[in-house]
Amino acid sequence: MHQYKRSSELFDQAQQYIPGGVNSPVRAFKSVGGTPVFIKKAKGSILTDEDDNEYIDYISSWGPMILGHAHPSVIKAIKNKVEDSTSFGAPTGLEIDIAKLIVDMVPNIDKVRMVNSGTEACMSAIRVARGYTGKNKFIKFEGCYHGHSDSFLIKAGSGASTFGEPNSPGVTPGTANDTLTAKYNDIENVKQVVADNKGEIAAIIIEAIAGNMGCVLPKKGFLEELRQICDEEGILLIFDEVMSGFRLAKGGAQEYFGVKADLVTFGKVIGGGMPVGAYAGPDEIMKVVSPVGPVYQAGTLSGNPIAMIAGYTLLTELNEKPQHFTELADKCEYLHKGLDKVLADSGFAYKINRCGSMISVFFTDVDVVDFDTAATANNELFPKFFHEMLKRGIYLPPSSFESYFLSNSLTYEMLDKTIQAAKESLEAMKA
Ligand code: PMP
Repeated sequence: MHQYKRSSELFDQAQQYIPGGVNSPVRAFKSVGGTPVFIKKAKGSILTDEDDNEYIDYISSWGPMILGHAHPSVIKAIKNKVEDSTSFGAPTGLEIDIAKLIVDMVPNIDKVRMVNSGTEACMSAIRVARGYTGKNKFIKFEGCYHGHSDSFLIKAGSGASTFGEPNSPGVTPGTANDTLTAKYNDIENVKQVVADNKGEIAAIIIEAIAGNMGCVLPKKGFLEELRQICDEEGILLIFDEVMSGFRLAKGGAQEYFGVKADLVTFGKVIGGGMPVGAYAGPDEIMKVVSPVGPVYQAGTLSGNPIAMIAGYTLLTELNEKPQHFTELADKCEYLHKGLDKVLADSGFAYKINRCGSMISVFFTDVDVVDFDTAATANNELFPKFFHEMLKRGIYLPPSSFESYFLSNSLTYEMLDKTIQAAKESLEAMKA
């Protein structure tokens, strides 16, 4: 069993200098309780914390470590590049290489603009959609997360088509007014919101496969119907592929589900773990982006050479060896079957959702298809499961509203160890 002495000391110190001791809230273990584990290093699928405990990692830095931590070719490329300086604020040839690679891999896009995070990517895509359509409002789905830009931090009022209300202080009612919320997987609800705001909606943004309410899959036909509504109403469909991009398939959710998006946003993975995001689309839409068009968007560190070489190296590996995607999906299916068995034996009510290499366990007997059903999960069981697994060296996302992200550096032995840990954890939870 693990000891967390050094992590506890560090957490105490961190709270003196950093809000809540962390630079991003979910890391603070608020929803599961206890002391966050401070990580020292990682290799492949193994994380080592400051107390020298080791864990099998199911977060993969929330996605990008799709081939494992400290991938040898990524690290080598970064080391070579860093000798030439860390930032220029001027164009480089490398930016063309990565943009061309992304355009080759992802369907329906001609141009890519690099930014520094998924938040920036989604915020900018909405601005582009507004600039292109000349309309102000957009629809997001309850339970989908698109970063912390003001207009995304909105929850619906009692009716989804009423004006949104901010769910963070600091977001003005004016901003909230332009964000409409709809229910994931409920096409009638979307139609109603569109009808109530006819001619005013610039975009519908969606995680085609949701990862931020746990893993939730689109129902058959849902994405196709969204596409149709967008075509009929002159609305741009934006796929937020910050999690799904280069993970579900080379071409992300568009390729996986066979549905075309007008704009796509990316994050994390295209920087190989460095701070990167991007938005992309066809020439017809991207021509509104500055300096060609009037929609302003900029960034001193955008296209940063170290981030670009890390991303280029990782994406090249994925492009040249597409078997990574099938191997990942096979491993996830294996984990699914193993967890399914031990959960069924445990007697706890549960549902498992899986898509490609994303998977979530919900402690509920209700099928999880949207935020409301995800919220039926038992609030007490998940924190217990999380800590029992942590004690046994399995590092899961510290919230039931997050998906696990598998990496192809996971071995079947590690998956077996995880399933065994789950069996023991569930037994311990009954005690
Ligand atoms: N979109 C999605 C789907 C995300 O999961 C996230 C973050 N997890 C973001 C956007 C925001 O990305 P970032 O944290 O890089 O700003």
